[in-house]
Parts: sequence; structure tokens; C-alpha cells
Amino acid sequence: MSAKIIDGKAIAAELREELSRELEGLKAAGARPGIATLMVGEDFGAGMYRSAVEKFCGEMGLGYRNESLSADTGEEAVVAAVRSLNEDPGVSGILPLRPFPAHVSDSAVINSISVDKDVDCFHPFNMGRLTLGEPTFPPATPSACIELLERHLRAEGKDVTDALEGAEVCVVGHSNIVGKPLALLFLNRNATTTVAHVYTSNRGNLAKHTSVADILVVAAGVPQLIGPDVVKEGAVILDVGINRVVVCPECGALNRSKKNPCRKCGADLAEAETKTVGDVDYERVSGKASAITPVPGGVGAVTNMMLARNTLRAARAQLEG
Ligand code: NAP
Repeated sequence: MSAKIIDGKAIAAELREELSRELEGLKAAGARPGIATLMVGEDFGAGMYRSAVEKFCGEMGLGYRNESLSADTGEEAVVAAVRSLNEDPGVSGILPLRPFPAHVSDSAVINSISVDKDVDCFHPFNMGRLTLGEPTFPPATPSACIELLERHLRAEGKDVTDALEGAEVCVVGHSNIVGKPLALLFLNRNATTTVAHVYTSNRGNLAKHTSVADILVVAAGVPQLIGPDVVKEGAVILDVGINRVVVCPECGALNRSKKNPCRKCGADLAEAETKTVGDVDYERVSGKASAITPVPGGVGAVTNMMLARNTLRAARAQLEG
């Protein structure tokens, strides 16, 4: 079997058209949909994400406000900045970009975000609604997984509800931003949902769960964690992982750093090439799965669109009061 590629870029392009039409309608009705990012201090990853959100907002025609505070800003002042974003009619959604400095608690910031502008579902109220099966703003990355899967099922001529009810789903990873909310989205669709994590692996039990999954979603941040031996024949695989790896020029093994010799053959990696891979051994698993998302060009390609969708949802609710 050679798996069908679930093309995140093509699905993102479809979503972009759908959302652009919705955005035009909202603007015509007087809304000003936009996103604000909140950063405290300088963090490389958060800074990269901030720039990406700004660029994306520009491309989509969404408003953008950058709230970047210095690392020595006190917690009260950070919370005051959030309140000003809550009040800004040009900000429909607020994205807190972590990590924050140690003296600023995540929960103080997140709990002060208006639940109506919490477009990536960080606030406990919105996580609670998700748990109850009444999601307000289902978080972007888990929603991207569901969107890719449902569009794939429809393209195969399947009824989405039927296909998911009672299906064996395994989610690898239980982080608050990906694995846990994704498991809830599957449970809300009546899938038989198993969540595996590092403790599952530590007990040697990962394969037991992944190898019975009709739908396997991997969000662990471990390159090649999933090989063909632990995948069910014909499974649908969604690979959330994004890992920058160094490819050994001698044996092709994937390494984490150029600083050490290759973990497999000991070759020097100083001049080796880097590339981005997921958590799944894409080439070999493609021979066993029925469908698979590539990395890059899979889940990551659709994530921003889900953020835009939630932002438009927030803007509409704010317009309608
Ligand atoms: P995270 O907070 O580091 O969580 C990783 C999860 O994987 C944890 O629950 C961890 O378990 C589990 N895990 C780690 N090693 C494992 C192993 N050997 N076996 C089984 N489970 C293991 O990461 P995250 O924020 O959820 O992100 C996960 C991956 O998705 C990363 O590669 C990240 O870059 C990527 N990502 C992609 C997108 C996108 O748009 N495509 C968005 C966000 C994240 P414990 O908690 O028990 O240690």
C-alpha cells in the first residue's frame, strides 16, 4: 500500500478562500477583525512565531497589534496590557506568546484575557467548554488535525460522523496545547480515544496502543518515533511533530545537533545538512498507512487558518454584541 498524501498546503489554500469571503462580509458589516500578540522579554521561538503571525495577518487582510513588553515589566503591568487589548475594538483575538519571564505567571496573564478574545483556547473557561463538548474556540493545532482528517474522509466519500464514531484513535503526546485538547476533540466525536505519552513509552507500551489505531496522531516532538512496525495496516496518520534535524552525510541517520558525531556511524556532522521532519518515519510508514500528512506541508500548513477562523468567529460575536 502507498499512502495517500493529505496535502495541508492545498487544504490551507481552500480554507484561505473560504475565510477571505467571510472576512470581506464581516468588514462590510463594520467589523475590524484582527489579532494581537503579547510578548514579554526576548525569546527566539516566541519572536519567530510573532513575526509569522504578523506576516500571516498581513497576507489574510486581518488587523495586527504587536504588544511587546521588556523582560523587566512587572506582572501587574503585563496584566494591564492584556486589559488594554481586551478593550481594543481592533483586536478580536489575543495570543499570549510564551515563555514569560519567571516573575510573570502564565496563569495570571491567561486568566486576564477576555474569554471572548481567547482565540487559541488557553483560558480555563474555554478549555472547560471544550471538555464539556461545547467548544468556543477549539485550539488551532488540534483543530488543524481534525480539519485535515475530516476533509480527507469526505474526499474518500465517507460520512465523517460514521467514520469517527467508535473508531480507534491514538493520540501520542498529552501537552496542554496539542495532545490533551486534541483527545477531547476526538472524544467529542465519539471516537474511542487513547492518549499515550512519555510514561507510556517508558513502560514499553507505546506500540501496544499505536498499532491498533485506525487514526494515529503523533505530537511528541521526537523524530522518527513512529515506524511502520508500530502502525496498523491502512491507518490514517496525522504527524504534528516539527523537528529540525541534522542528516548524517555518511549513513543518513537523523541527529539533533551538528556539535556531536553521528549517533549511528560516528561521522563528523559539522558540515552536514539540516532539514525539518515530523515524528513519523514518513517514507516507511507511507508503505503501510492508507493516508498520511507530510512534514512540512501537513498540519502546520493549516494551523494558521484555524487561528484565522477563530478570530473571525470572535469578531462576529463582538460585532453582534
Ligand atoms: P510538548 O509540550 O513538548 O509535548 C510533547 C508530548 O509528547 C508530551 O506530552 C510528552 O510526554 C510526549 N512525549 C515525548 N516523548 C515521547 C515519547 N518518546 N513517547 C511518547 N510520548 C512522548 O510539545 P507540543 O507543544 O505538544 O508539540 C509537540 C510537537 O508538535 C513538537 O514537535 C512541536 O514542534 C509540534 N507542534 C506543531 C504545531 C503545528 O502547527 N504543526 C503546533 C504546535 C506544536 P510527557 O509530557 O509525559 O513528557
